[in-house]
Amino acid sequence: MNIILLGPPGAGKGTQAKYLISAFGLKQLSTGDMLRAAIEEGSDLGKQVQLIVDSGNLVPDNIMIEMITTRITRTDCKGGFILDGFPRTVLQAETLTEVLSQKKIKIDHVIALDVKLSSLLDRIRNRALETAQEQRRQDDDEETLKHRLNVYKEQTEPILPYYEKLGLLKTIDGMLAPDEVSKEINDVLAE
Ligand code: ADP
Repeated sequence: MNIILLGPPGAGKGTQAKYLISAFGLKQLSTGDMLRAAIEEGSDLGKQVQLIVDSGNLVPDNIMIEMITTRITRTDCKGGFILDGFPRTVLQAETLTEVLSQKKIKIDHVIALDVKLSSLLDRIRNRALETAQEQRRQDDDEETLKHRLNVYKEQTEPILPYYEKLGLLKTIDGMLAPDEVSKEINDVLAE
């Protein structure tokens, strides 16, 4: 089973991905984690994207498409994967559809977590408070977060109608408690 998780920063994609990993043995592919690892390592890619990620802007589509295409065809994804953080633009979504169809890989469900914008700010403020200073994400500061939410609205939200048209979109109320959200997702997957 292959799943795409969509939703704004702070919607709970990471938390739900963890549940899905333990329930279904899926492999989580988080592009944000991959980029942060590259930055930490100081690789060429890391150096190229650091300022973009820290400022809350999107890394160019060609870089992201290359990154995910290489990753998704590795053997550890054969048992199913969860895409978390990709696609983030309509071009990424369209290219993903093409690449996967060439490789005869199918997306089974696109799950969108729907959360009120006002509560996202609170959630990420709390995440920053609960995280030790040295582990805090650069892009979780107040101004950058507001910018990330705008970027989501402008560049990522238009993906929802794209998947709706493909008949893959399932919207879940992300304002519920994490285990209730998880239950709703499991119900969708069982359909
Ligand atoms: P969140 O969902 O909390 O915003 P992520 O960890 O998914 O955070 O992403 C962090 C940052 O990494 C984004 O703000 C962006 O700069 C970069 N990034 C991650 N995935 C993509 C993508 N698919 N396309 C472009 N940039 C991306």
